[in-house]
Amino acid sequence: MSAERAAIALGSNLGDRERVLGRAREAIGRLPGTRVVGASRVEETEPLGPVPQGPYLNQMLLVETALEPRELLEALLAVEREEGRARSERWGPRTLDCDIVLFGERSITEAGLTVPHPELPHRGFWQRELAELNVRLPVA
Ligand code: ADP
Ligand code: MG
Repeated sequence: MSAERAAIALGSNLGDRERVLGRAREAIGRLPGTRVVGASRVEETEPLGPVPQGPYLNQMLLVETALEPRELLEALLAVEREEGRARSERWGPRTLDCDIVLFGERSITEAGLTVPHPELPHRGFWQRELAELNVRLPVA
């Protein structure tokens, strides 16, 4: 099995946020060919964007996965759905958001999938979490 390392950002600002993150970690660890090899501290951050909403809990996971990026994305969207995420407005509150921040050294620009995640340069808390996991940021 040729596995690659991916960084997945979790975010939750609805419901019991700690438990949502906990269940997300477990669900991600159960994905085929995937194991969680690192987790940052859980950080609280203020919401971004125009929609008024409560603060988020965030956590960065490091996984080793044999899935392809597109397969990992589909699996993460399914994990979000399991948490009952209603996809209403962009930037709005959500029980669970799972974003692929990095996938090995790969650079992907496809419909519905951009890696490294385009928000990485703008999100100091993602950068801190990656540093905590000893993941080097890609050079722009
Ligand atoms: P956001 O995370 O930007 O707040 P969503 O979670 O609703 O918004 O994501 C919307 C879409 O973003 C997903 O359906 C997915 O196709 C797309 N997307 C593009 N690149 C990525 C990525 N690196 N990780 C996760 N989703 C991504
Ligand atoms: Mg997302």
